[in-house]
Amino acid sequence: MNTEETGFDAVILGGGPAGSTAATILASSGARVLVLERDHFPRFHIGESLLPATVSIFDRLGVHEQIRERFILKPGGKWLYGEKEVPGDFSRSDRLATFKDHPYSYLVERSEFDDILIKRSVAAGADVRFGCEAVDLVKEGDRVVGVQYTDEQKKRHEVRGRIVIDASGLRSFIPSRLKLRKLTEPHRMGIYAQYAARPTRDDIKEGWFIGQMFYDGWTWLLRLPEDRFSVGTVLTVDRFKRSGHSPESLLEKLVQENPLLREGMTHARKRISDVMVTGNMGNSSEQLAGEGWVAVGDAAYFIDPCYSSGVHLAMKSGAEVADLVLSQQGTLNPQLFDGYQRAMRQHEKTVHRMVDAFYVASRNTSVQKMVTTMQGGYFTRKFVTFVGGDFDRNAGYISRVRMYSKVAASLFGNDSQRAPENDPEYLWDSADISSDDQGVEDFAA
Ligand SMILES: Cc1cc2nc3c(=O)[nH]c(=O)nc-3n(C[C@H](O)[C@H](O)[C@H](O)COP(=O)(O)OP(=O)(O)OC[C@H]3O[C@@H](n4cnc5c(N)ncnc54)[C@H](O)[C@@H]3O)c2cc1C
Repeated sequence: MNTEETGFDAVILGGGPAGSTAATILASSGARVLVLERDHFPRFHIGESLLPATVSIFDRLGVHEQIRERFILKPGGKWLYGEKEVPGDFSRSDRLATFKDHPYSYLVERSEFDDILIKRSVAAGADVRFGCEAVDLVKEGDRVVGVQYTDEQKKRHEVRGRIVIDASGLRSFIPSRLKLRKLTEPHRMGIYAQYAARPTRDDIKEGWFIGQMFYDGWTWLLRLPEDRFSVGTVLTVDRFKRSGHSPESLLEKLVQENPLLREGMTHARKRISDVMVTGNMGNSSEQLAGEGWVAVGDAAYFIDPCYSSGVHLAMKSGAEVADLVLSQQGTLNPQLFDGYQRAMRQHEKTVHRMVDAFYVASRNTSVQKMVTTMQGGYFTRKFVTFVGGDFDRNAGYISRVRMYSKVAASLFGNDSQRAPENDPEYLWDSADISSDDQGVEDFAA
C-alpha cells in the first residue's frame, strides 16, 4: 500500500451530480470530505434534460446563476404520439407542486454541468481527486470502513472514513461488490450521439425536450448550446439484436427516417461525436445502505430515462444523505438510513409505475387515444407535477393512470400486429393514433 489515510467524515466514490451534491453540502458544513473520481473532468456524460424540481437544489448549492447563464432554459417536455402531442408545460402544474414558483429547468451539456458542480465541491472545501478509481472495499467484520483506490500511476492507496457514499453511477460499486445488484426486466438500452444542426421546430428552438414514442421504445431530440443536438433512442436489447443494425447504422437510419429526428433538425447536419451505447439500463440494489455505506443516484438504482428523472434523483438523494450524515456525530448508527431507504424505494416504485404505463401506451393505440383525450384539467396538472420531478407525491394519480392504461390495454390488446417480430423497419414506426394505418405508413416511408 502506498498511503493510508484516515479521519474523513465521508469518502465519496464518484464526482457526478450525486457525489458532488453530497460533497458540497457536507464540506460546506465543515465535514472532512474526500471524493474519488475515476475520470478527469470535463468528460462526456449522457442525461442533459433536467427537471424543475431540481432547481431548488441548484439554489441550495449556489450554482444556479452559472447554470442559468450557460445553458438553455427548458419550459417543458413534449411527447409525440404519432400525429398528436402530449405537452408537459411546467407552468401547468398543480398549485402544490414544489416548483410552482420556478416552472422551468434547463437543457445542459453534462460535461460542463458536472464540472460546475464538482468545482463547487472543491470551493466548499472537499478534497477531490481525479483519475482515482475505487477498486476494493476495506471492511472490519461486516462494516465498510473505507476503500482502496488506484491513482493514475496505478499505485494503490487506502482511505477510511465514517461513511462511504457510493455515487459511482451505473457501476454501482458497493452493491456490485456486495452482490446486492440485480438487473430489472425487460433489458433496454440507449443509443445516442451529438449532431451539429439548426433546430427547425419552434418548440425545439424554445428549449422543449421532445420525445417520440414507437412500439416499445422512443427517440429524443434536444437542443444543446452552440447549434448542437443530443439525439438518441431507447429500445429493448432484444429488438436491437433482431434489427441486424450496428448502433451507428441504427442511429443514422433513425436520423434519416424517424419523423422527429428527420424533421426536427435542418437536413444539413453532421454527427460530431461517436455513437455511444448504454446497455442494461434497468438495475437496482437489494439494499441501498448498510453498515458504513450508503448508495446515492444511479449507484442505488437506475430507471428508464423516459421521464428524465435520473439527475434529479441523483442530486436529491445526494443532498438527503449529506443531511443525514451531518445529523449524527461519531460512528453512524446503522438505522440512520432506514427512512432514506424507504423514501428511495417509494420513488423507485412510483417512477417504475409511470414508466410501465408509458410503455403500455407505446404498444397500444387505444391507450394513446385515451391519454391524448385526457389532456387538460386534473390529468394535465398531475402529469406536469409528476414529470416536473415531484415523484413522491400524486400516488393516487399514478395508480389511476396505470390502472386505466392496463384496463384499456387488456380490453383492446397490444398492437402486436403492428410489431412484426422480424421487421427492423418497425423500429421507428409509432403506433398510429388515427383510425387507419396511415400514420404507420407515413413513418415508414
Ligand atoms: C440513454 C440515457 C439517457 C438519459 N437521459 C437523461 C435525461 O435526459 N435526464 C436525466 O436527468 N437523466 C438522464 N439519464 C440518467 C442520468 O445519466 C443519470 O441518472 C445521472 O447521470 C446519475 O448521476 P450520478 O451522479 O448518480 O452518476 P454519474 O453521473 O454516472 O456519475 C458517476 C461518476 O462515478 C465515477 N465512477 C464510477 N466508478 C468509479 C469508481 N470505481 N471509482 C471512482 N469513480 C467512479 C464515474 O466516472 C462518474 O463520473 C439518462 C441515462 C441514459 C442511459
